[in-house]
Amino acid sequence: MRAEIIAVGTELLLGQTVNTNATYLSQGLAELGIDVYFQTVVGDNEGRIRQAIELARGRADLIVFTGGLGPTQDDLTKDALAKYLKAEIELHGPSMDKIEQFFAARGIHMVESNRRQANSIVGSTPLANEAGLAVGNAMTADGTHYLLLPGPPREMKPMFDGPGKAWLRSVLGEDRRLFSRTLKFAGIGESSLEAALIDLIDGQTDPTIAPYAKEGEVAIRISTKALTEAEAAARLNVVEKTIAERVGQYLFAREDIPLEEAIVRLLRLSRYKLASAESLTGGLFAELITNIPGSSGEFVGGVVTYTNEMKHRLLGIPMSQLEGEGAPGAISESTASLMAERVRELTDSDYGISLTGVAGPSESEGKPVGLVYFGLARRGKQTIVHTAHLSGNRSIIRTRAAKSALYRLWQ
Ligand code: ATP
Ligand code: MG
Repeated sequence: MRAEIIAVGTELLLGQTVNTNATYLSQGLAELGIDVYFQTVVGDNEGRIRQAIELARGRADLIVFTGGLGPTQDDLTKDALAKYLKAEIELHGPSMDKIEQFFAARGIHMVESNRRQANSIVGSTPLANEAGLAVGNAMTADGTHYLLLPGPPREMKPMFDGPGKAWLRSVLGEDRRLFSRTLKFAGIGESSLEAALIDLIDGQTDPTIAPYAKEGEVAIRISTKALTEAEAAARLNVVEKTIAERVGQYLFAREDIPLEEAIVRLLRLSRYKLASAESLTGGLFAELITNIPGSSGEFVGGVVTYTNEMKHRLLGIPMSQLEGEGAPGAISESTASLMAERVRELTDSDYGISLTGVAGPSESEGKPVGLVYFGLARRGKQTIVHTAHLSGNRSIIRTRAAKSALYRLWQ
């Protein structure tokens, strides 16, 4: 089923109100397995609402309206649709009772226009408004389904989630919902990932495969429409297996969690402790890890040794290693290795990780911007050093370096 959302309200066009209702409705419709093809915004003007309906009817099976159900003269959605469908408007009795009681209970005089909120298009199903007075409408006419919801989000949401979705399910005839699974990858770019799966992505109908990039990680969302979770899982498993066969070495999670969380979980499982020694990232690595609640069981702490003097004083790295004629320098494989080893020993951890490099904007020790060394010291095993040439500005290089360090750990 193809749907279009029409948000009615001049305040939306003026930019005074953000069209959050469209986002909410799109998400809800997707969960029902309904594809939203268009989102339209139109002002409180009967002629233009009519034009929007006309256009939507030609390209959608379901039109969901939000806004313009209130009491005032600029609330025109029901009138516009009724006129378009050449249908009458009637007062919905129970809603009228509710409106009258509302004013009586507060002892305020009811302005006549409030009756408009009980207006219902003849032939439609009235949808109760839990949080307000305007009644919603749902109807099918000439093969097109219409759902009319109020504008205020606190009224729209319960009406859509409750009677609105119930009505949509009855229209759909079956309870097919969208089930999604997110696969997270690290160490591979979005375009390489897409290239490796392009035939699957292109040929897809159901399940659908959609790659997207987010904060230095790439993800693939696979989705399918199914009646039950078990049916969906079976279908998603098949696709997941095919994907894993091709790019499984980069796959770090089968749910939407960041790499740092996957690492904390892994360390927890193996009961390993980790410590860090950071230079160019100034603590960003520790920040990523400690963002994960409860990571103190796995991450014991770290040092930020930004200057050579601190690398010497806090980690005991010889000054002759860091500077002077013929010294490898702070940005070197051997310094990365020493930093990792020293922080591991000092904290009695199983892993020590270090980051040293050039964040820019200019080169340092005659080494180019973006050159980063990652040291990984392991209890009872040989220390490994990885080298990376990262691109971007200073802030991007620092963020990427912290993320890459996580990836080194993952490997
Ligand atoms: P009311 O009874 O309040 O008049 P209504 O159904 O007529 O309700 P509108 O008059 O269109 O709805 O909008 C009322 C208020 O609801 C707006 O001022 C705005 O704050 C909010 N609103 C309307 N449409 C949206 C939308 N698409 N997204 C988010 N908020 C909205
Ligand atoms: Mg209004």
